[in-house]
Amino acid sequence: MAGVAFRNISKVYGKDVKAVNDLNLEIRDKEFMVLVGPSGCGKTTALRMIAGLEESTDGDIMIGEVRVNDVPPKDRDIAMVFQNYALYPHMNVYDNIAFGLRLRELKGIFWQLSHYGEAQKIKADIDSRVRDVARMLDIEKYLNRRPKELSGGQRQRVALARAIVRKPKVFLMDEPLSNLDAKLRVQTRAELIQLHRKLGITTVYVTHDQVEAMTMGQRMAIMRDGVLQQCDEPEKVYAYPANKFVASFIGSPPMNFLDATLVQNGSKVYVDAGEFKLPLPEGHGAIGMVGKKVVLGIRPEEIDDSNLATNIKPTEDNTIQAKVDVLEPLGHEYVAYLNIGSLNLIATIDNETRIKEAQTAQFVINLDRIHIFDAETEEAIR
Ligand code: ATP
Repeated sequence: MAGVAFRNISKVYGKDVKAVNDLNLEIRDKEFMVLVGPSGCGKTTALRMIAGLEESTDGDIMIGEVRVNDVPPKDRDIAMVFQNYALYPHMNVYDNIAFGLRLRELKGIFWQLSHYGEAQKIKADIDSRVRDVARMLDIEKYLNRRPKELSGGQRQRVALARAIVRKPKVFLMDEPLSNLDAKLRVQTRAELIQLHRKLGITTVYVTHDQVEAMTMGQRMAIMRDGVLQQCDEPEKVYAYPANKFVASFIGSPPMNFLDATLVQNGSKVYVDAGEFKLPLPEGHGAIGMVGKKVVLGIRPEEIDDSNLATNIKPTEDNTIQAKVDVLEPLGHEYVAYLNIGSLNLIATIDNETRIKEAQTAQFVINLDRIHIFDAETEEAIR
């Protein structure tokens, strides 16, 4: 077992495409780490550098205690699962899973003939490993089928089985679920989490899907334009995004952002968005910055119908009046598009609400959960 580390890793393509820029990231032994970010942020390049499929321009890649920059991919003891897992179409499931093991462990046919006893033992061992993994992934009954006779989800599990059967030090997964339909994706997501718990193999998982990152990662590393923005547990990233980019990337519907200024009124400091202002919680880091231009961030779930029995009591300070432009029913809740003069906000409101479209109503904001970002640097101020 081993962790993986990026130490000052950069990758430049051609003259000036900085796909990964001075990445420092430690993935712990047995950890499930998700690399997440929008298309082109460098996550696949980072993953391919661990595999040795891409050479870094600068820095060190460590697997366990070993610097692997110069170690060929086949000797890194990693297994990779891609979005476009290529199964051998002419082999059945059994042979697809066993193929890599036979190649590695059985050497050539002449060796097998001259080491008959030993070869038989290895074959029996491979057979039991293939069957164990097939059982674990519930594809045992398809071992004799060809890939084209399987559903997308079953094929995906064969690709996983092929990777798992090798018991590598590290699993690398690049959007392995993106070819599956929505329902199967959710199911396979859960299966992968369970599998990781069972096997305890260090896993680096690349996705652009923030829901996948939130639900699967023990920690998640958010990248943008080749630069690591934040690495932490999903709950922490959600509650304490390091900057406006991370705040906008994590959460659905996304966080509301309003241009604002910090103003003093009596003994309190407010964040003034023009149409309304909210007092900063006691001890907030922005209190000493009166006059500063900031961005106020409010998550939709921190805005609620003030008539509902929420745990926030409506007061003059935390209540705003807004017109409901659109109410989108999601079943358990509504997504409400609110209008306050020149400002628009999105709120998620419990389905018990009596509020109707086109109505003007009172809404409470959880002041303890508002976010303030420096308007210039976009860094969070706490
Ligand atoms: P996606 O989710 O779209 O796969 P990504 O975050 O995985 O994106 P990478 O594939 O790592 O991003 O690419 C990072 C940057 O490097 C992009 O700007 C991409 O255009 C560039 N890039 C990737 N591979 C090459 C290459 N072989 N030659 C030149 N530029 C490349």
